[in-house]
Amino acid sequence: MSGEQDENAPSHLNEGTVVKVSGAAGRVRALAALTTGVVEEARRRHGTYPTATAALGRTLTGALLLGGTMKDEERLSIELVGDGPLRRAMASTTGAGRVRGYVANPAAHLPSKRGKLDVAGVVGSGMLCVIRTQPWNKEPYRSVMELVSGEIAEDLAHYLVTSEQIPSAIALGVFVNRDGDVGAAAGYLVQLLDGADAALLRQVERNVASLPPVTTLALDGAGATDILAAVLAGIETTPLESYPARFACSCTRARVHGAILLLGRDEIADMIARDGGAEVTCEFCAERYVVSAEELEMLNAEPAGSA
Ligand SMILES: [Zn+2]
Repeated sequence: MSGEQDENAPSHLNEGTVVKVSGAAGRVRALAALTTGVVEEARRRHGTYPTATAALGRTLTGALLLGGTMKDEERLSIELVGDGPLRRAMASTTGAGRVRGYVANPAAHLPSKRGKLDVAGVVGSGMLCVIRTQPWNKEPYRSVMELVSGEIAEDLAHYLVTSEQIPSAIALGVFVNRDGDVGAAAGYLVQLLDGADAALLRQVERNVASLPPVTTLALDGAGATDILAAVLAGIETTPLESYPARFACSCTRARVHGAILLLGRDEIADMIARDGGAEVTCEFCAERYVVSAEELEMLNAEPAGSA
């Protein structure tokens, strides 16, 4: 990592990496994600304070890891709703390393506890909701459960164990620099699959217990592959996949027009007369769309029923 950056150059490139391996002849599956650029992009877009940045970054990284276990075409969303100042954290991924997300209160921040950002404190007690949308199933698969700790990694592990019945260990971490930007973000997920025995479980537990925090590994320069090697030390592995991750939203100007059309002709005419245009901000990525009066007039002139 370079210590000096040109003020005008982007300090991060909205990029991360997800690496997936299989181990012990298919009895264990593990993924690691290095998401510093992805989380920094989210922080920059939403203007989050450090504790909110950590909560959002863990949620985004968790979504990328869980998304890495899905089949193509599946979509996954994670939502935490708590009674802490953050109120809500949300991330969704379409697989293939694309993730987007937000928190209800970007200014949520608490004093650090024992040198760590108090993510559980800003989340509070509440519920975790995981929705998996599979095109081959009519209804999305929805799991709702109480938060175990609000630390997010434990909550997602609890979801995997209880709802998907897959023994899983997850670590998620975000290191926020003194000036508020993201110094490191990373995570890993280890899952024991059919045929895993007690010896394999003990080996994984020993490895995980002996590791420093995942942000320490990332700050020391470890990549996703290095993190996986540490998590699965002593277990033979086969690489499965490696792909870039990025913060990416599906919003477009055309979708914004569609949303405005739903308001009805009278309301659109009102917006033209009253405000001389409209401004729409995407909840997921904070992209701001300024819609001119001329655009609104054109929308209103379209035949009813078209969008
Ligand atoms: Zn968006």
